[in-house]
Amino acid sequence: MDTSTYKNIVSFLPPARTLMGPGPSDVHPRILAAMARPTIGHLDPAFVGMMEELKTLLRYAFQTENALTFPVSGPGSVGMETCFVNLVEPGDKIIVCRNGVFGGRMIENVRRCGGVAVVVEDVWGTAVDPGKVEEAFKVHSDTRILAFVHAETSTGAQSDVKTLVDIAHRYGALTIVDAVTSLGGTPLKIDAWDVDAVYSGSQKCLGCTPGLSPVSFGERVVDAIKHRKTPCQSWFMDLDLVLAYWNATQRTYHHTAPINPLYGLHEALVMLKEEGLENAWARHALNHRALKAGIEAMGLSFFVSESQRLPQLNAVTLPQDADDAEVRRRLLADYNLEIGAGLGDMAGKIWRIGLMGYSSREENVLLCLRALEETLAATGAQIKTGVAQAAAKGVYAVK
Ligand SMILES: *Cc1c(COP(=O)(O)O)cnc(C)c1O
Repeated sequence: MDTSTYKNIVSFLPPARTLMGPGPSDVHPRILAAMARPTIGHLDPAFVGMMEELKTLLRYAFQTENALTFPVSGPGSVGMETCFVNLVEPGDKIIVCRNGVFGGRMIENVRRCGGVAVVVEDVWGTAVDPGKVEEAFKVHSDTRILAFVHAETSTGAQSDVKTLVDIAHRYGALTIVDAVTSLGGTPLKIDAWDVDAVYSGSQKCLGCTPGLSPVSFGERVVDAIKHRKTPCQSWFMDLDLVLAYWNATQRTYHHTAPINPLYGLHEALVMLKEEGLENAWARHALNHRALKAGIEAMGLSFFVSESQRLPQLNAVTLPQDADDAEVRRRLLADYNLEIGAGLGDMAGKIWRIGLMGYSSREENVLLCLRALEETLAATGAQIKTGVAQAAAKGVYAVK
């Protein structure tokens, strides 16, 4: 190989950004420091002890006593697949709710597992309609599982987990809930709401780096997996095999756990415990109210109606004369600020401003409002200037 192709490549030094998109969110220095600690073996007793604490902390975050609660080695998408490949067998009927991009991915998962997806559609930007789910169960009483997204990151809409789970259980079905964006940011109560299978992600409201997917499974799921007619088609995600690693006192090798990222998740969860889960929810709500005050003072509006809006993912409708790509380019170049573009059908229609985890703090809200205001004004969009920051500060003053 010609050495000139690589001789100028040196260590990568990322720019310092403020992350206010749909994830990853800003990672606290304490978490980055934890990840820089020495790598030890994944069967080392010290590491096994850390993993036990990690499972305990995850039960707190999920508000569950489920024994089967652990971080899958992979991003949220792997947590999603872990649920589907273990629970769906060929021919199974699954009701999947689609009110955004991630519901669509669930449908794809069902199909790839050989299942039959009955799709309940809702308009993007609205919550899943329990009435439609009930109707679907009446028509398809042989449904085995109901699957839906709690916090739709593609639109900023939040669905009512408890009501949907209750419907599924009345018809004897299990539930798979996507809580990737809700865990740690908005109330999520796995036991009180009787959720059967749930997956999340490390990089959203937990504020850790991407690449880990906390999951939790109740007794009904354990039972369903034990009674599978066919072996799980994925070797890596087969819970029977993974559990021999995560749950056993005498651990044997399954795969090499991502040691340092797990230190990071442990630290993120210690920080969540120190803050208190309810306080974390309240912080996400407060910063949302401050951002909202500023956004609305500028004359911009929210895409999702107030009662269904997620505090940690703010979908803001683009003003008519705004240049989507140019505004986001300038935010990054001039302010080191990343916000999210619209995904799928929402591309060019909304911006997604994340206030997740460590990104959910006053200085980020104020930076975002200032940067958006200056950039929109400079690119000729019709907004009200000079009022957004004061509106947000007004919310913090009365908190
Ligand atoms: C981010 C996200 C995922 C996927 O997580 P990755 O870590 O990107 O694989 C799944 N569902 C929802 C709702 C998400 O926001």
